[in-house]
Amino acid sequence: MGIVARTQSRCGALTQKGTRCQRLAMENASRCNLHRGDWSTYTIKKRKEAEEKAKARKRRK
Ligand SMILES: [Zn+2]
Repeated sequence: MGIVARTQSRCGALTQKGTRCQRLAMENASRCNLHRGDWSTYTIKKRKEAEEKAKARKRRK
């Protein structure tokens, strides 16, 4: 038990639920097949939203 998890690292990407992904990462990648592609765009989208929120706050004042 647990031997497979040692040879292959976990994805660990934050899901939209706010929890860590429990899938095994793909070979030669730090993310699973679900997050290897979507993760970056999802992160960028979230970052943009946060930036726009910050801007909106500054404008209001
Ligand atoms: Zn994942």
